[in-house]
Amino acid sequence: MKLEELKQKMKVLPKHPRIYPPYKVHWNWDISFKCNYKCSYCEVVRRDEEFNTQIADTDKWREVWNRIFDNYWCTHIRFSGGEPTIYPNFLKFLGMLLEKHTVDITTNLSFDLNDFIDKVKPGGLSISASFHPEFVDFETFFEKLKYLHFHGFPSTLSYVGYPPHLEKIPEYKKRLEDLQMYFKIIPFIGNYNGKKYPESYDAREKRLLEGFATDSKDQHLNDMNSKWLEWRVEKEENQQKKESKIKLGKLCRMGQMYAIIHPDLEVTRCCAGYHGRESGILGNLLDENFLLNDDAESCSVSRDCPCFKGMFVGEDEDKWEPLWEALDHPVYKLEYMREYAKILKGKK
Ligand code: SF4
Ligand code: SF4
Repeated sequence: MKLEELKQKMKVLPKHPRIYPPYKVHWNWDISFKCNYKCSYCEVVRRDEEFNTQIADTDKWREVWNRIFDNYWCTHIRFSGGEPTIYPNFLKFLGMLLEKHTVDITTNLSFDLNDFIDKVKPGGLSISASFHPEFVDFETFFEKLKYLHFHGFPSTLSYVGYPPHLEKIPEYKKRLEDLQMYFKIIPFIGNYNGKKYPESYDAREKRLLEGFATDSKDQHLNDMNSKWLEWRVEKEENQQKKESKIKLGKLCRMGQMYAIIHPDLEVTRCCAGYHGRESGILGNLLDENFLLNDDAESCSVSRDCPCFKGMFVGEDEDKWEPLWEALDHPVYKLEYMREYAKILKGKK
């Protein structure tokens, strides 16, 4: 594609284009650690008191996210927490974000479906629903999930591999996969029966988890579940490879292609260390001079790298794009940025 044609398609060229895979900035936004559920195995809501959660109105957010668009073009925002949808005016804010960015929400699906359909239009939004059996029955949850998935909001189900909940996985997984929907298993991090997980999964539980992570017809899903499991659940034969998880001094594109936004709006390269600070603080999202790193930087983290999708320069770079796959924006398409990156690299 010629530059002139591309310019027309892109409508506006970013000031700081991202020319490396996955060609799009990915944000993880822990918008707050508040939640309307109180799952017995939850390890995150207690973090709420550690943060001075900052609330802004939709106009302020429009200013911030327009500036981000001007700098980096269309980015991908993955909300988690806590339960993001209880943030004040969340659905209106979401509708605004989707004008120029793509979004994924990790949610317990407790929001009002009619209100959601009313305020949010399909296009660029996916749902990562997490099913919490202590607060909702599977059938109610599944009906809502199916409705969203088949009405323009591609949805997946994530299920925490909490030891007493493992037995139900085959049944739930099959129900979703019969409809070609993704079922993702999140290895449990926390305490159960006085034992610390994921270290304490016994051999039978590990075998179960490994089986679930590889038995889908969809190879991409198998790859994703397996990589996650491998990163979080140490197999004995992996113990010797432990040093490979320490990336201190290695060049990494987290901070350039990815960043975490914390509830107090501090932005860090990744989640390593207390509030991600060990990885490096990039600034505050409301600061009008806020910028990401413009290139890969060396990792400053001396402990295990916490990210199974880390973008380590020279390692598996051809896998970054599929690994960081996100829904495309209906207007600001990823292929345009990929093309633009080619042109810019050609100029170097
Ligand atoms: S829904 Fe998620 S964030 Fe909320 S209490 Fe349960 S595990 Fe924690
Ligand atoms: S800890 Fe991992 S993801 Fe974070 S900056 Fe270092 S290498 Fe990158």
